[in-house]
Amino acid sequence: MTDTMTATATSIVQERRIVTAIPGPKSIALQQRRLAVVAAGVASALPIFAERAHGAIVVDVDGNHFIDLGAGIGVMTIGHTDEAVVAAAAEQLELLTHAMFTITPYEAYVRVAELLAEHTPGDFPKKSVLLNSGAEAVENAVKIARLFTRRSGVAVLDHAYHGRTNLTMAMTFKAMPYKTGFGPFAPSIFHAPGSYPFRDGLSGAEAAARTITYLEKSVGASDLACVVAEPIQGEGGFVVPADGYLVALQHWCTANGVVFIADEVQSGMARTGKYFASEHFGLEPDMVISAKGIAGGLPISAVTGRAEIMDAPHPGGLGGTFAGNPVAAAAAIAVFGEIERRNLLAEASRIESILKPALRALALKHQIIGDVRGIGAMIAIELVQHGSLEPNPAAVAAVTAYAARHGVILLSAGTFGNVIRFLPSLAISDELLREAIGVIDDAFASL
Ligand code: PMP
Repeated sequence: MTDTMTATATSIVQERRIVTAIPGPKSIALQQRRLAVVAAGVASALPIFAERAHGAIVVDVDGNHFIDLGAGIGVMTIGHTDEAVVAAAAEQLELLTHAMFTITPYEAYVRVAELLAEHTPGDFPKKSVLLNSGAEAVENAVKIARLFTRRSGVAVLDHAYHGRTNLTMAMTFKAMPYKTGFGPFAPSIFHAPGSYPFRDGLSGAEAAARTITYLEKSVGASDLACVVAEPIQGEGGFVVPADGYLVALQHWCTANGVVFIADEVQSGMARTGKYFASEHFGLEPDMVISAKGIAGGLPISAVTGRAEIMDAPHPGGLGGTFAGNPVAAAAAIAVFGEIERRNLLAEASRIESILKPALRALALKHQIIGDVRGIGAMIAIELVQHGSLEPNPAAVAAVTAYAARHGVILLSAGTFGNVIRFLPSLAISDELLREAIGVIDDAFASL
């Protein structure tokens, strides 16, 4: 604990303020302790230790204030230490911290399932199972689809990220750092080519035809339980598929008895200006997976799907000790409430209306910015070698490091490590966004 901790997080001034070298002395000291006891495989993007955060500002242990354009990888969508979320969680903490829904159920779990049924795309009866993490939700979605279809095959797309458990490692595309050396992997996972307009130049119809040909010829529709796709790929680099791609894929799934699963762990829950990004593409997935943003930082995830699919598993087939924890569920209810009360879907569009033109202007100045893409508060730039499609991960590393030294938390992404992604909290002000872009402009100029 430091002296600054006597102040509450809500009193944090929403401004960028760097008061030490980055990392500061306290972060350096913590890093030494960490190296002795934390497994090396748990790497951190930044060398600073966080102490407090509110809204769009993270304060480190040395008192530096950072504009947070990463929001804990899209978790703090409604803002750090949001008052309504903190109050709901605190109240629940004193009433019932844990009961285990599969022993003595409680209302908060039911309420989250009601809210998910209401806000996920599709006007049909839906049911949910609540879990702890994104990967655990993906595991459960696959498990349910397999039981429902009595088939085993699982198709995923190139550049996908679905998690770090054994099944989800197998489903994830990128070997290093997620898979290398960690095999053998779960069988019956098929990686189909997807749609990456900046790199493949295909229309949605062309890319869908390529995917479907692969599935029909290499996998066989009758062996396929499900296709799992991120409507906008997250770790893969905020790849927005070409128009018509996803809906064509979903139609093919429906025609072939294959469950279509949207992994909206990163793209869901108001981040793109709709509750779920699927809505931008005219999708009504058979199942939607949500996690990151749904509970304002408390760990909870969900699989929500057509009632007849979700009811396929026998009683006792689904669950988990901490799954759907009451404190996290209370926080999720507060997040849904705040999205409505503060009209946060519109905030995502506001952020896009500032970020996209500003980044396009940067792309005109700095020619290594090859692409500007994304929807709402899920925007990215892809960096290339001058005048080519050759990835430029070194520039991403230099820009993100410069930004950190100057008080902006900026995250990378992409199979080639050459994407900078912007996924700020919806609570970020226009002024902070513009200031952060100024820092990024300076970062490119410094290359
Ligand atoms: N799916 C997607 C699309 C994700 O972005 C992530 C996390 N980055 C996961 C699954 C895994 O979630 P978790 O880290 O909570 O297991």
